[in-house]
Amino acid sequence: MSTRVEKTQPKDAPPPLPEPLRVAVADSHTHLDMQSGTVEEGLAKAASVGVTTVVQVGCDVKGSRWAAETAAAYENVHAAVALHPNEAPRIVHGDPDGWSRQGARAGGGEAALDEALAEIEALAALDHVKAVGETGLDYFRTGPEGMAAQERSFRAHIEIAKRQGKALVIHDREAHADVLRVLREEGAPERTVFHCYSGDADMARECAAAGYYLSFAGTVTFKNAAPLREALAVAPLELVLVETDAPYLTPAPYRGRPNAPYLIPLTVRAMAAVRGIDEDAMATALAANTARAFGY
Ligand SMILES: [Zn+2]
Ligand SMILES: [Zn+2]
Repeated sequence: MSTRVEKTQPKDAPPPLPEPLRVAVADSHTHLDMQSGTVEEGLAKAASVGVTTVVQVGCDVKGSRWAAETAAAYENVHAAVALHPNEAPRIVHGDPDGWSRQGARAGGGEAALDEALAEIEALAALDHVKAVGETGLDYFRTGPEGMAAQERSFRAHIEIAKRQGKALVIHDREAHADVLRVLREEGAPERTVFHCYSGDADMARECAAAGYYLSFAGTVTFKNAAPLREALAVAPLELVLVETDAPYLTPAPYRGRPNAPYLIPLTVRAMAAVRGIDEDAMATALAANTARAFGY
């Protein structure tokens, strides 16, 4: 009996294919290199349900090189390159296993960060690289000792995005006020995207006034995410994007199971319901917005 088979599926089994979208969209933020299966398989599965484009995001020098190479190899893959906010303190403190054991290992320092940033800038200059990010501030994983390095790295990424004329992809975890402050102080690039937007409606209004794009992940489908849905409801439609951040943040009802770009339709449908528009209108806006935000 099919219901029984369903129930005995292991918790880490990939969720089934959702009903395809009629209007194709892009997954504005994904990590194909952390998902199971080959890139070809992941892209084909996504395309089969109307997710025809993805932005592949690098989190360190190696991952950013991979993102750039993958974008060069596949027409519908675009790259974003950066040192993740949690990566910068690790580089400065010379400890790949955690910045908190400061001084435990030789190496690192500001020079190591500058060297890594130079590599990121060289990648950012490439044609297939459409954005610099994910960068920003993460006060959830990085403690006070890592904050200075994190903010220095964030400022440097903003400068790179502006020099190279690329979009900026922001990672903001429990650091809303400081992220907005640094953007104000540095002057944000023309196109700035808050990936996995996690602020409330007030912050969404502030972002909208500055012209920042808000990219919504599977979190917007979570039961306890009412403030996020309120933010989506007040954001200008032309500034709204959708993403998976896969393999993380799997949308309901598959929370906890592995995420991948093919699950985007679940989030698009939830977003359309929040906005009170039909799925096709939502998808049409998302597709146009993502292309405009990333300039492809
Ligand atoms: Zn992130
Ligand atoms: Zn990410």
